[in-house]
Amino acid sequence: WTAKKRKPEWMKRNKLPGGDKYTEIKAKLRELKLSTVCEEARCPNLGECWGGGDGHTATATIMLMGDTCTRGCKFCAVKTSKAPPPLDPAEPENVSKAIAAWGLDYVVLTSVDRDDLPDGGASHIASTIRLLKQKTEGRLLVEALVPDFQGDMACVQAIVDSGLDVYAHNIETVERLQGQVRDRRAGWAQSLATLRHAKAVSGGKLLTKSSIMLGCGESREEVVATMRALRDAGVDVVTLGQYMRPTKKHMAVSEFVTPEAFAAYQQIAQDMGFLYVASGPMVRSSYRAGELYITNVLK
Ligand code: SF4
Ligand code: SF4
Repeated sequence: WTAKKRKPEWMKRNKLPGGDKYTEIKAKLRELKLSTVCEEARCPNLGECWGGGDGHTATATIMLMGDTCTRGCKFCAVKTSKAPPPLDPAEPENVSKAIAAWGLDYVVLTSVDRDDLPDGGASHIASTIRLLKQKTEGRLLVEALVPDFQGDMACVQAIVDSGLDVYAHNIETVERLQGQVRDRRAGWAQSLATLRHAKAVSGGKLLTKSSIMLGCGESREEVVATMRALRDAGVDVVTLGQYMRPTKKHMAVSEFVTPEAFAAYQQIAQDMGFLYVASGPMVRSSYRAGELYITNVLK
């Protein structure tokens, strides 16, 4: 459980993405004018997620509702504003068309938080999912990583009813650090309640998922308690990864959690009965999500 302050060797992996599938996706993205979180965040897993091949399923993450968020979490590099530009009403149609043409097996849709909109953008996200399912005749598996909608359960229900496969919402950190890490409008109880509700209104059928960032100053006991709380809220999939400071203006990294500690958390989470656990320094919430869904849920 030892931890280090300076960036350790295991965080320095910077494998250049490659492979035919990756090159093909990249070209297609330019053609379709789609922007991915994978590229914009320079995600270290891009090669693996997009690479496909070797029986892997290519996964990518698309950001909806613009590039400006109404919240300001201390760890996040997304631009913020109290009044971002209005939503593009053509986005659900255009994005679903582009993703369907891309030919992926699995897509993760995520978004900024839009507290300025009456429904937080829930109907916009839901119609994108619905159109995606229609255009791919249900073949494309869709995971949506959604906001907390300020605890508005009608918004949660709208997402659940859209026909998605995985409902994801990130708790981000342990209970004690919520206020220090996330925007003040986010919160422990609110996040758990939306996850619990998503599961309940789907009649228990929908897969739910959440992520915890480590290295923010949490203790081992607090991480275990967070996994326990997620499991008690019916969450099926949990991912744990290392927090990386996007710029000097953002919250500092408290520690670099060792690969051994990540492996130990993996075991603890598996023993709690999660359907799937991804735990490692480089793991991000959508890390190889498609492959994991297909190997763990559909088979
Ligand atoms: Fe970033 Fe999401 Fe927080 Fe907005 S709500 S600042 S996109 S983490
Ligand atoms: Fe994209 Fe997520 Fe994979 Fe990173 S982990 S490459 S953001 S799908």
